[in-house]
Parts: sequence; C-alpha cells; structure tokens
Amino acid sequence: MAQIETEQLQLREIYQLSFDIFSKYGCDNNNATALARTVETAERDGSLSHGLFRIPGYIASLKSGKVKGIAQPKVENNMASIVSVDADHGYAPFALKCGLPVLAQAANQTGIAIMKITNTFHFAALWPETEFLAEKGLVGVACTVYKPAVAPAGAGQAFFGTNPLSFAWPRPSKTPVVFDMATSTLAMGDVQIAARDGHELPHGTGLGPDGKPSDDPAEILKGVLLPFGGYKGSAISLMVELLSAGMTGDNFSYEAGEKDNNDGGPPKGGELVIAINPELVAGAGWADHSEGFFQKLEGLEGIRVPGERRHKNRLDLGARNINKELLGKLRDLLEAVYP
Ligand code: NDP
Repeated sequence: MAQIETEQLQLREIYQLSFDIFSKYGCDNNNATALARTVETAERDGSLSHGLFRIPGYIASLKSGKVKGIAQPKVENNMASIVSVDADHGYAPFALKCGLPVLAQAANQTGIAIMKITNTFHFAALWPETEFLAEKGLVGVACTVYKPAVAPAGAGQAFFGTNPLSFAWPRPSKTPVVFDMATSTLAMGDVQIAARDGHELPHGTGLGPDGKPSDDPAEILKGVLLPFGGYKGSAISLMVELLSAGMTGDNFSYEAGEKDNNDGGPPKGGELVIAINPELVAGAGWADHSEGFFQKLEGLEGIRVPGERRHKNRLDLGARNINKELLGKLRDLLEAVYP
C-alpha cells in the first residue's frame, strides 16, 4: 500500500482555508460560510470523503457556472406541514441553513413536517441536517439522489445514484443516534479515496467495466457500484429516488445524469427532509421509553450505535492529519489567478 503523507491543520485553519477558496471562486459570505462550516465539521468528525476532499469538485462547478455562489434560497411555508426551499441553483448547505429552522418550527406545531429543497447541488454528508433536528428534540430523516452510479439489483448498468439516507433520533442530554449512509456498498468519495490511496475494496463492492465483481477501486470507477445488501438495499435506493425526486419534483438520478455537464461537481437535484416531534406523536414518556431501548441495545456485547464514531472524533479539538497531495491542490486553487 502506498505511504500517505499528511500535514496537520487545526480545525480553524481548515475552516479558513475552505472559506478563502469558496470566496475566491465567487461565493458570497453566506454561501462561503455555510460551505466552509460543512467542510470543517466533516473533517472534525472524520467524514473525510465529504470534507476538504470535495473542494475541487465544488470549485469546478462554481467555475463552470453550473452552481451559483451567490444563491439566495427562498423559503415558503404556506401549508402548515410543508416547507419548500428553492435553493436558487446554489449548494445545499446555505439552503439547509435557511430552511431547517422553519422545518423544526413547523414540526413543533403540527407533529410532523417535511421540507423539499429543489434546484440545489448536494455534495456533502446528510448527518448535519438530521442532527440539527435531533439536537432540537426532533426525529430527522433526510435523503437525496445523485446521478447514475449504482446498478439496481439484477442489472449490470448504473441507474440509481449512491442515494444517501440519514436518520437521527434525539436523546435528551445525550448525543443523538444518527445514521447516515449511502445506499450503495460505499459512497463514491470513498471509492475515489481508495483509488487515490491504493486501497483494495471488499470483493463485490462494485463491478468492473467488464461487468464482473471487482475489489479494485480504479476498475469500479470505470464500471458501477452495487447497492448494499442486494435487492433489499436496491429497494431502499428506489425509495430514496422517489422521495428525493418524485416527491420534490426535481431530478431523478437518471435525469440528473442526462442534464449534468460532468464538470466534476455534483448534479442538480432535490432533497427531502422530514422532521417529527416525538413528544407530540408518542406522548410525554417517549424519551424514557426509547432510553430503555438504547440501554438494552448498548448492553449487547460488540455493539456500537451509529454516529458514535463521529461523536467521539468530535471531542478531539486538536489538529487533523490532512492528505498532503490534497492540501497542495487546495493551496494551488487559492493561489491560482482567477477569474
Ligand atoms: P459508512 O458506511 O461509513 O457509515 C454508514 C453509517 O453506519 C454511519 O452512520 C456509521 O456511523 C454507521 N456505522 C458504521 N460502522 C458501524 C458499526 N460497526 N456499528 C454501527 N454503526 C456503524 O457511510 P457511507 O460510506 O455509506 O456514506 C458516507 C457518507 O457519504 C454519508 O455521510 C453520506 O451522506 C455521504 N453521501 C453523500 C452523497 C451526496 O450525494 N451528497 C451521496 C452518497 C453518500 P459512524 O458515523 O458513527 O461511523
């Protein structure tokens, strides 16, 4: 395996580097702040495939003009339990920042509310949105599509996106339980990182260009990923397509793929976020009841609840080891003459 050289960066340096790059390539203060915060929190929590690693892609789409760095999302809440956010062709983090407080307020009034975000470009992890809701005492569910990268069970060609799904459950006075997962065997960013770093992947992560199962990330990048868990993961990915595109009116993965300019950034799509108030739905005893469940679960040998790894990483306020080659690319972006 190739030796990976790293350089240490403090979290505030990660934020500043990201903010400076986004600002240089046309983001206004609101968009640059939301994006830099997304990158910093991903690096803080160890979500490496959705932190600094994503910046070259974000910048490619700002440069091509596909994504607006000065997007001004419009939030509407005309029906009590439906929040609509038109992201104005900007990246998702600022649209989420504008819409999530309105969604939380709607769920606290009606018990359950959904937010559809349209005209956006999602290139990040989804746990920031579900965790935001859980920290406010709400259950959160979020999903979005991408462009074709995953072969539905039984097929040999890409049709679904990597279609992530996140769920968060609040635990008063504890960190929430949060899962956030691609419905493919791996997120595309992790396959790209494995190819960059020379790691093999578990056999059957995807198919090579010859349609045969492969453990070589470079071959899988030329071929397709598979859904996790065979036809069951495939069904969940199908649900994500319908909730994120059928329910928002924005692109299905195949439509996003047909329209995208393939500049290296994410395709245009929609995101659906659901917020549920457990106090209003299950009643006053909900927290103790679910704590009992978690205590039993956590008492099982070998168990860890999802989200725990990230929450542990978060307690470390020290420097992070950043891939030196990536850092070189980011510093080049900052120093390049633009426009
Ligand atoms: P992982 O397979 O690394 O993790 C999936 C979930 O499982 C996490 O919540 C993780 O919690 C949990 N988990 C992992 N190991 C265990 C374990 N042993 N026991 C219990 N829980 C465990 O994530 P993916 O590779 O599938 O996805 C990575 C990221 O990619 C996600 O954040 C997703 O949102 C993002 N993504 C974004 C896309 C986009 O278009 N914007 C597209 C596809 C993916 P923990 O964090 O604690 O390890």
